[in-house]
Amino acid sequence: MEDRSDTHFYCFLRYNDRCSMAEAKQKQALKYQMRRSSRARRLRIDVHADGRVVVIRPLRVSRTSAEQFIVQKIPWIKKTLAGLARARKAIGIEYPFARKHLSATEYQRQREAAHTFVEERIGYFNRLYQVPVGRVFIRNQKTRWGSCSSKGNLNFNWRIVHLSSAAADYLIVHELCHLREFNHSQQFWKLVGQAVPEYARIRKELRALPL
Ligand SMILES: [Zn+2]
Repeated sequence: MEDRSDTHFYCFLRYNDRCSMAEAKQKQALKYQMRRSSRARRLRIDVHADGRVVVIRPLRVSRTSAEQFIVQKIPWIKKTLAGLARARKAIGIEYPFARKHLSATEYQRQREAAHTFVEERIGYFNRLYQVPVGRVFIRNQKTRWGSCSSKGNLNFNWRIVHLSSAAADYLIVHELCHLREFNHSQQFWKLVGQAVPEYARIRKELRALPL
């Protein structure tokens, strides 16, 4: 099912605030990209999951003002980067793992590996759940790890092969349980917990790490 709460992830964390333009007292080394945008209304800092820091600057905001803003936000940026690094370590993912970094052959190989892996784990967990599973698709989804359809088909992101086995298992069990409980009720989480008792921790880690 459509799942805003945990199988969807936002592309990046944002700092979005009005700039007080206070004089920056200290300069600290920080790598970032700056982009001017005709659509942006406010200065914004996007911290991407791979560690890139991108500053979006509206046309009317000067470069100097933007730089002052960045300096002020350095503690927030550093905290965010550290949080992402912890989450990456916890769930095992390494960046870059974007589709564009892979050749067609390598992408195909990873997709097939994901398919084999997911089918095998579904078989394993379905000895417990015993739900009818439709087809399994591996997709290049940019905003989610997995989803399921009312027809009983399951979709997983090919990046699942880059996750720790605990995180991957959680995603598989999550979608599998939706075939019994098409919601996120207490009953649903109880089902998930039967196979993955530590689901709450893994869910939190996955949510901390946007795709
Ligand atoms: Zn769900």
